[in-house]
Parts: sequence; structure tokens; C-alpha cells
Amino acid sequence: MRVTHGAPLAPLTTLAIGGPAALLAELHVPADFPEFVKLAGGCPGRPVTLGHGSNVLVDDSGSTSAVLLMATRGLRITGYDDHRVLIEVQAGHPFTDFVDTTIAEGLTGMEMLVGIPGTVGATPVQNVGAYGQEISDTLVDVVAWDWELGRIVTMDATACRLGHRTSIFKHTRRWTLLSLRFALRRSELSAPVTYRTVATELGIPVGGRVPTAEAARAVLTVRRGKGMVMDSTDTDRRTVGSIFLSPEVSPGQADRLRAQNAPVNHFADGSTRVSASWLIQQAGFELGRPITAGTRISSLHYTLVADDGASAESFAQAIDIVLQQVLRHTDVLLTPEIDFIGDWHFRPARSSGRAGDDAADSRR
Ligand SMILES: Cc1cc2nc3c(=O)[nH]c(=O)nc-3n(C[C@H](O)[C@H](O)[C@H](O)COP(=O)(O)OP(=O)(O)OC[C@H]3O[C@@H](n4cnc5c(N)ncnc54)[C@H](O)[C@@H]3O)c2cc1C
Repeated sequence: MRVTHGAPLAPLTTLAIGGPAALLAELHVPADFPEFVKLAGGCPGRPVTLGHGSNVLVDDSGSTSAVLLMATRGLRITGYDDHRVLIEVQAGHPFTDFVDTTIAEGLTGMEMLVGIPGTVGATPVQNVGAYGQEISDTLVDVVAWDWELGRIVTMDATACRLGHRTSIFKHTRRWTLLSLRFALRRSELSAPVTYRTVATELGIPVGGRVPTAEAARAVLTVRRGKGMVMDSTDTDRRTVGSIFLSPEVSPGQADRLRAQNAPVNHFADGSTRVSASWLIQQAGFELGRPITAGTRISSLHYTLVADDGASAESFAQAIDIVLQQVLRHTDVLLTPEIDFIGDWHFRPARSSGRAGDDAADSRR
């Protein structure tokens, strides 16, 4: 295990923002984890677990708590039945590699999640999902270190309380996920394609099925068009994907929004939600528009990205400005999807506060 003191966290995140970690430990070998538990005991607060940093905003002052960079790798088949294959994956394994492997092995359950950056261990944290599939469809259980109990625990998928971009692991440092098991079905055909954009790309009706690899290719094409894959040459590459959760709407609101051509979708937890990006567009933000120092709306999609000069403070301010303007224009309060790492806590300005709006207006 490699341990450094004062290492900058910015290069370990896709936004490339954030100060140093008082103690950073890179875990490559699962058996070294107990050594980290001892080291973390010498630092204040509960340690932070970091994967590929693709869904976090790290504070400019960094973290005084110990940071564990989860870099373990490996996946293996642990069992079969007639239709399903059980696969155990180390938490630090790249998620894109896991998804590609399942497709190559003739399994369905992950093909719509192709191109999502990050580690496998982070996927239950916000029940990662896209284009009609989410981790809750296939997760069997996780093995985790429970910092409160001070021991290893195994939690089945029900105990993980996976919801729409949330779980028992979201907004807490209580657990560090070490390994995970998934059950995937054997099938040459993908799950039904429920998103219109993907169905259009494939030239099939919504609800149709195609070979899993074809479905994955179509999803990747749609994602690329929105800057939703990590591409080092992309000018919008300093991104965390979606900044905000898609807010839940009532049946009446859903009908009204559909009449305006809003992307409204049903989710596995029973909720109906409207796209946050669509709301941002409705609130009057244009693609590429600068928001605060070093931050702007992506040139491809209605989300925030960072450029030179961005800081955690300016990025958090930009989040607040977008949130306030969407509230004012659409009466919908957005909630940030990303996690805030470090010794600060992001507090959106109160809905009555107009500072954000004023700042945004002055940049039009
Ligand atoms: C271009 C782009 C596209 C994206 N598209 C999607 C999408 O379609 N759908 C979607 O759901 N997300 C999407 N995301 C968000 C992100 O990819 C996922 O949330 C991903 O699971 C984060 O993985 P990570 O390893 O980078 O986690 P990090 O960003 O490092 O961490 C995220 C959170 O998980 C915690 N965490 C990480 N690893 C562990 C662990 N082993 N144990 C306990 N806690 C842990 C961290 O403490 C933090 O709170 C996208 C991001 C980008 C940049």
C-alpha cells in the first residue's frame, strides 16, 4: 500500500479540483486493508473512500481525514444456475471494464450502463443507472468495512436500500465497500430499449431488443453526443456527468411536462422524474455559458464543467446559481447528485436568496 502525506487530490478527480489529503493511501492489494484501518485511526474523523473521483467535488482545503484510494482490481465467476452467472468484483475495478466483460461473456444486465466512469465499488453508492438499467437490477451483495462497528460486514442488496441515485451508502462515510457480487442473466439479446434516443439510434421501436453489444454501441453513441463519456481530448472533459438529480414529479406535472416535450421517465423505485438538464435549459442557460470563474455550462449538454481557474468554491457557487435560476423559472428545486468531499459542507442558498440569480443575470 502506497502512503503519502499532503498529496493533492485534484488529479484524482475528473473535475481536477481540490486541495491535499493529510494522508492518502492507495490500496492495490485487498489484504493490505487492515493496515489502512490502523493508519486512519491516527487522523481526525472517518476516512474518505475515493474511486476514480468522477462524482465528487473536493474542497479547496482538501481533507484532514485519511483518504483511501480504492485501486484493487479483479473479477471472477463464483457460481452459476440455469440462467444466471454470479460474478464477484473487487471494489477498485474499473466499472467500464466490468461492463465490457459482461457483454463479451454474453450476459445481459449491464449493457445500458456502458461508458459510465468510475470504480465498481462506487456503483451502489448512488445506485448508478442510465438508459433504463441500474445497479439494483443485478447487485446481490457487498462486503464492506463498517467503520462504526469496526469489522467486516456482508450486506445483501435489500440492506443496501438502493433507490433512485441513492442508497444507504450515500452521504455517509460509515462503510468502505471492498468487494461486490452481481447476478447477470445469459442472453444474446439486450434488455428492452426503453429510451427513445437509444431506440432511434438503433432504428427500432421503443421496447425492442437487439444483441447486447449493439445496444451498448448505441448507448455509447448517444452518450458521446452529450459529452457523457470520459474523453481526454474533449474540451468538456472536466465533468462529473450530471450535477443534479432528476427531480420527482407528480402524475399531473408529468402530463403537463410531457405536453411540453420534456423527457419524463419512470424509474424502478416507482418514481417518475423529469430530466434536470431539460429544466436547466428551460431556465434560460445556453450551452457553453460561463457561470463563475473557471466554470461554465458544457458545450454539449446542460451540466456544469470546469476550466482553468476553477476552484471548489467557484464550482459550488456555480451549482448554487444554476439551482436558484431553475427554481425561479420552473418552481422545481434541484438537488445536487455529486458528493462533497473534504472538511466543508455545501449549503445551497435559501430559495428566497437572490444572490445566485443576480450573479447569473450579470453574465448574460
Ligand atoms: C462523464 C460522466 C458520466 C457519468 N454518467 C453517469 C451515469 O450515466 N449514471 C450515473 O449514475 N452516474 C454517472 N456518472 C457519475 C459517476 O460516474 C458515478 O457516480 C460513479 O459510480 C462514480 O465512481 P467513482 O469510482 O469515480 O466514485 P468517486 O467519485 O470516487 O466517489 C463517489 C462517492 O462514492 C464514495 N465511494 C467511492 N468508492 C467507494 C467505496 N469503495 N466504498 C464506499 N464509498 C465509496 C465516495 O466516497 C463518494 O462519496 C458520470 C460521471 C461522469 C464524469
